Amino acid sequence: MDLGIKGRKAIVCAASKGLGRACAMSLAREGVDLVITARTVETLEATAAEIRAATGAKVIAVAGDITTEAGRAAALAACPEPDILVNNAGGPPRGDFRDWNRDDWIKALDGNMLTPIFLIKSVVDGMIARKFGRIVNITSGSVKSPIAELGMSNGARAGLTGFVAGLARQVARHNVTINGLLPGPFLTDRLRGGFAEAAKRTNRTVEEVMAERSAHTPAGRVGDPAEFGEACAFLCAASSGYIVGQNLLLDGGAFNSSMG
Ligand code: NAP
Repeated sequence: MDLGIKGRKAIVCAASKGLGRACAMSLAREGVDLVITARTVETLEATAAEIRAATGAKVIAVAGDITTEAGRAAALAACPEPDILVNNAGGPPRGDFRDWNRDDWIKALDGNMLTPIFLIKSVVDGMIARKFGRIVNITSGSVKSPIAELGMSNGARAGLTGFVAGLARQVARHNVTINGLLPGPFLTDRLRGGFAEAAKRTNRTVEEVMAERSAHTPAGRVGDPAEFGEACAFLCAASSGYIVGQNLLLDGGAFNSSMG
């Protein structure tokens, strides 16, 4: 299926590894020119080289912390008029809310709510003027079904989701869409780290923890980041202009509901 986005320009944030990388790879396969970001220059450059080699796409690597003004400015300087924006950043730490102070919360809000909002603010009017825009926010399944020990993630991402629900409906008539992609468990470094912590805490092996998590998912496994990337590319397709303000859960059926 040709998604009709060859030659479009995208900024994919936090894309040297995991879900962001998978989104970048899938967009590159569609012929999209990329700016990808992450903080660690070595892994970012290596990923850019891998994507170029695999797809032949133009990929510019911009190292920086996307949760800072400077990081966002650098990404936008490399791609001032993106057609596609994939918002992503690392998630807040797990823990007990009694241990989190104001600075912890502000950091979580900066990373998982305000950073995407300020990037959207920087690009959305250009998209409206050009009559094409696809914005995908990588959030979490926790937006629909909170994860107790990830309270800052639950809160910050719900804030983004609420804001975007309103904005998406203001910009849709200009063929600019904003949607959320909600990952359940996908086998990335972050998930491996979570499994390793759980294994240590419960005196089990990482394999045992992963098998237990897989068994609790109707699909019987954790997700492959490549599957996530393909869903992102689909939301960015030329023909996806009528998918507006949706929150697409990719969790192998773990959220138990008759609808949505
Ligand atoms: P990951 O495998 O740890 O990859 C994170 C990527 O983001 C890396 O490329 C990292 O590179 C980059 N990054 C992190 N903080 C950044 C920052 N401040 N500025 C720029 N780049 C940054 O994580 P992932 O599993 O793909 O997760 C991506 C997002 O989805 C996270 O917010 C996570 O909480 C959420 N999520 C993931 C899952 C899952 O199962 N994987 C489930 C639910 C939600 P550098 O470290 O070099 O910057």
